Amino acid sequence: MTREFSAGGIVFKKQRIINNKQKLVWLVAQHSQHKGWVFPKGLIGDHIKGESSSDTALREVEEETGVKGRILEKLKKPATYFYIWQGDKRFKTVYYFLMEYESGDIEKHDFEMSAVEWLLTEEVEKRLSYKSDKLAFQEALKIMKNYE
Ligand code: ATP
Repeated sequence: MTREFSAGGIVFKKQRIINNKQKLVWLVAQHSQHKGWVFPKGLIGDHIKGESSSDTALREVEEETGVKGRILEKLKKPATYFYIWQGDKRFKTVYYFLMEYESGDIEKHDFEMSAVEWLLTEEVEKRLSYKSDKLAFQEALKIMKNYE
C-alpha cells in the first residue's frame, strides 16, 4: 500500500459585523476534480524537495485559495484516509495547521479549486465533505477557544 503525506491549512479570519461585533469565518474550497469541499492542502515534498510540512501548508493555501496565512499551531491529530487511485490503495496522512488570515484574495485562487469561500463557523461542518476534515475542524475550534 502506498503512503502519502500532505499538509494544509485551516484558515480563519475575524469579520466585523453589525454592532461592531466580530465573527469568525473559515476558508473552505471545492476540489476541481473530486468536487469535495475541503481545506486547502498538498503533498509534502512534491513541489520542493525537503520542504517542511509548515512551508508546504502555507504555500498550498496560497496557491489553491489566493490567501496568505500565518500559522498559529499545528493540529495534534492529523486527518487520515484511504482511497484507491488506478487500482492502487493509498493511505494519506494530512497535517493541518491552524492559520490566521494575513493577506490575499480568494478571487485569485488557481485551477485546483473550482470554488473558494469564507464560511461562518456554524456552516463549515455542514459543507465539508469528509469525516476526517470535520474532526480536524473540531480540533481547530477547540484550539481557537484559547485565543479568544
Ligand atoms: P493533495 O491535495 O494531498 O495533493 P489530491 O488533491 O491529489 O491530494 P485528494 O484530495 O487526497 O487528492 O483526493 C484523493 C481521493 O481521496 C479523492 O477520491 C477524494 O474524493 C478522496 N478524499 C479527499 N479528501 C478526503 C478525506 N478527508 N477523507 C476521505 N477521502 C478523501
